[in-house]
Amino acid sequence: MRTAVVGAGVVGLSTAYALLRHGSEVVVYETGTPMATRSAGSSRIFRLAHGDPGLVAYAAAAAGLWADWTHRAGNRLLGQQSMVLTGPAAEDWAGAMEAAGVDHTFVDDDDLDTAELGLPVEALPGPALIDPAGGVIDARATGRFLRAAIGNRVRREHIHRIEPHDDWVELHGSRGVHEVDHVVVAAGRGTTDLASQVDLYLPSQLSHHVQFTFRLKDPDLNSPCWIDQTGSWRDGVTSYQHMAGPGLWAIGLNLPAELAMWERGREEVLDHSRELVLTYVHDALVGVDDEIVEEVYCDTPTILGDGVHVATTGPVTVLWGANLFKHAPAIGQTLANAAVNGLSPHVPRSE
Ligand SMILES: Cc1cc2nc3c(=O)[nH]c(=O)nc-3n(C[C@H](O)[C@H](O)[C@H](O)COP(=O)(O)OP(=O)(O)OC[C@H]3O[C@@H](n4cnc5c(N)ncnc54)[C@H](O)[C@@H]3O)c2cc1C
Repeated sequence: MRTAVVGAGVVGLSTAYALLRHGSEVVVYETGTPMATRSAGSSRIFRLAHGDPGLVAYAAAAAGLWADWTHRAGNRLLGQQSMVLTGPAAEDWAGAMEAAGVDHTFVDDDDLDTAELGLPVEALPGPALIDPAGGVIDARATGRFLRAAIGNRVRREHIHRIEPHDDWVELHGSRGVHEVDHVVVAAGRGTTDLASQVDLYLPSQLSHHVQFTFRLKDPDLNSPCWIDQTGSWRDGVTSYQHMAGPGLWAIGLNLPAELAMWERGREEVLDHSRELVLTYVHDALVGVDDEIVEEVYCDTPTILGDGVHVATTGPVTVLWGANLFKHAPAIGQTLANAAVNGLSPHVPRSE
């Protein structure tokens, strides 16, 4: 069985890793540098908490695989900081966790003691949901682990055309034409174009997003990951925040759609986000120094929230979605199964 994977982000590499463990022959085609676009940067949030019991269960399956990867990598890929969600969604997400039968704590507004949460913030409105299985994924170590396992099966080549036949596929790349039994498209931003060649039309609207890293005033703090949907600092602005290494705190502000829209251009959104995050840190985060030490930019699909989307048409399987890093080991297995066994992939699709 010869399988090609297009894209060497965390999803493509996870798929190649699962395919190798199935005993398949696999080649990963990558236009640029592996893990350098939407999978770039030091860290990501892992959480079981989602608004849909199917996604909670899928994340729980991923958690088991993260533990297995940690064991094989010989160093911890997923931390144990826990995760806190604040804002109106906390109650629904608690319900989804309840329905999926996973451990969590829901705290009403009146009972919330901000100091107990261990976040670098003085006061917060509730309600809050605590996900004890949440934590920080070491994204760089994950990339190193997967690249070492996959070795020289990653080729630098741009795939510009996919031509499916009944039970094989022709890939037209910048270095030639390749014939394989199955292709998995996990090309991030490049997926929409390749999918349209097999009559799959995916959401294509993008927006700009930047994540900033700051120093924590207390270098020994090991705070939980935090998704803040209260909008309590500024209307329409929510955030996600987490440890990005010892003494480092990453913050991604989610701007109102009109401020992050693609048409505004990368530089304008970047400048605006920088100005906003500095004001936010100064106003709201007592435990964080107001000097930026790192910035990670990416484009992101505008209308996709949580959710994993997979479609198979003949010998072509296509994956799309947002916030995929946490699920990557499970997605890799799902896609490898689709390629090897022709199984119709079953994944939770809610947004
Ligand atoms: C700042 C930031 C914070 C995030 N926070 C979280 C988080 O806390 N938790 C979470 O779970 N997720 C988070 N995400 C989302 C998560 O990181 C992404 O969903 C995930 O990394 C996407 O991986 P991917 O492999 O699908 O895409 P990518 O990493 O974009 O990989 C796709 C690859 O395909 C290559 N490619 C494209 N077209 C072609 C082609 N035609 N031929 C060959 N190669 C091609 C690209 O060069 C690229 O390397 C965050 C993302 C960012 C940027």
